[in-house]
Amino acid sequence: MKYQELVNVYEALSNTTKRLKKTDILANFFKKVDDETLPIVTLLALGKVFPFYSEQEMGIGDKLVMKAISKVIGVNENEVENQIRDQGDIGAAAEKLYSKKSQTTFFSQPLSIKFVFSNLKKLATISGNNSTNKKISIILELLSSASGTEAKYITRTITEELRIGVGEGIIRDAISDAFDINKSVTERAYMLTNDLGLVAEVGKNQGENGLKKLSLTPGKPVKPMLAQLSPNIDESILEMGEALCETKYDGIRMQVHKNGDNITIFTRRLENITKAIPEIVNEIREAFPDENYIAEGEVIATRNGKPLSFQNILHRVRRKYNIEEAIESVPLKVYLYDLLYYKKPTLDEPIKIRREILEKIVNTKSDNLNLSEKAMVNEDNLKDAKRLFEKSIAEGHEGIMIKDAKEPYIPGIRGKKMLKFKAEPETLDVVVVGGTYGIGKRGNFIGSYMVALRNDDEELETVAHVATGLTDETLAKLTKMMEKYKINEKGTKIIVKPKIILEIAYSEIVKSPEYDAGYSLRFPVVKRIRDDKGLEDIDTVERLKSMYKE
Ligand code: AMP
Repeated sequence: MKYQELVNVYEALSNTTKRLKKTDILANFFKKVDDETLPIVTLLALGKVFPFYSEQEMGIGDKLVMKAISKVIGVNENEVENQIRDQGDIGAAAEKLYSKKSQTTFFSQPLSIKFVFSNLKKLATISGNNSTNKKISIILELLSSASGTEAKYITRTITEELRIGVGEGIIRDAISDAFDINKSVTERAYMLTNDLGLVAEVGKNQGENGLKKLSLTPGKPVKPMLAQLSPNIDESILEMGEALCETKYDGIRMQVHKNGDNITIFTRRLENITKAIPEIVNEIREAFPDENYIAEGEVIATRNGKPLSFQNILHRVRRKYNIEEAIESVPLKVYLYDLLYYKKPTLDEPIKIRREILEKIVNTKSDNLNLSEKAMVNEDNLKDAKRLFEKSIAEGHEGIMIKDAKEPYIPGIRGKKMLKFKAEPETLDVVVVGGTYGIGKRGNFIGSYMVALRNDDEELETVAHVATGLTDETLAKLTKMMEKYKINEKGTKIIVKPKIILEIAYSEIVKSPEYDAGYSLRFPVVKRIRDDKGLEDIDTVERLKSMYKE
């Protein structure tokens, strides 16, 4: 199938903001696509070349793409840069510049979707000597056979900024519509496999029954179930009837998979961190029976047995070298709290039962691997929850989790069945979309950050400018990140790709027509950069509105 056909779909998608219309366009397209190309277009429609949990990345900066465009068109790089400034993004600039390109080379050989996809994938495999030149030549091979609109989307895909407003939800719905499958069946199949390509393929060829047979596979990461805030411990427990309360550890969530002899550990963003924590892998291997399983827990860094801040553990798992040394200097502790698979999927069991199985099978042989501290609480022993909360805080942890005892594990959902109650005031996770350079001494730093939340249609809505809570060191780090993700710059203002997640504290939520969300935050303060979170983890406008009402 020709790449131009996908490009026509991209254009149609970017011409509407309506979710239903977008779903319809994609559903009609999916119906036409052949079996082999179908999984590929589910990724490309998201602007991706690799599934989001893959460790592979194209790793191409905007500069390299600009260089490639300048070579293909035969203009200098300054002209490309000017055009990007005028048009607002690299893709639109490429399209514009292509109108100057001589027609003779156009359509020398039409690009196919498969060819574009495999060339883009190749980019991830190139490293070492002369890699820049090799990468450029792959990009040139694509761009020199591309039409203007094809170049627009090839460059946007490479720079990971497709701008067609399509998220996973729309693709899932389009698969349902295209192959006449109940939305809840598609949703569950995706939830369990995390693989839209597979869901599309099975949906097309085996229908609902085929999709119902898909399940968790140890080794393939699952999106974690997320927590909402509890307004009040007792109230939450009474609402649930019976609750499994546990200490809330402030570390990194880990999902441990064992398949055959292989143990793999993923973070909440499904990054593979197995190599960074070999001592934990050993401890886990020893503590569990030799079966296939998927378990969840929190890993925290400690000093003299006391928990250290979250930043310490983040450094530790990101480390690629001198790991032996780090094992000595930053000892880790693991607290296990869930079991999604043991010989077969267990996620549909109530958490109470999942915890019981976990307790039965795990044989903790060292002080560094434990099950989370817990209390089963109902209306007769509410005090036990309070006691657990106070003990957790006294030991330096964050608070408690309150889990509805009868509830299954629902991947990727932030519902009312798992709640958190923290000692610290509430914060919001937001994404940075722009910023302003400071003045005077701070002229080299971006001092103010425009931040956004996401709405139900997976679009971003601005909500505040944050300029406090930043040390010089953090300012320097953030400014560097902003420059890396820059889309456009005018005067002292800069617009960036939504990549940087900040955790923000504030004094109050107020109504404000100045921001897309219609609300804003008074006295916002940056608490920390959340490298461990992604765009899918940021808070929603919905949540902001419900917090305002409260
Ligand atoms: P938050 O990151 O503030 O949304 O809080 C939810 C996170 O708390 C989870 O993603 C886990 O990483 C973490 N957590 C710490 N202790 C527990 C526990 N006992 N049960 C579940 N999650 C926990």
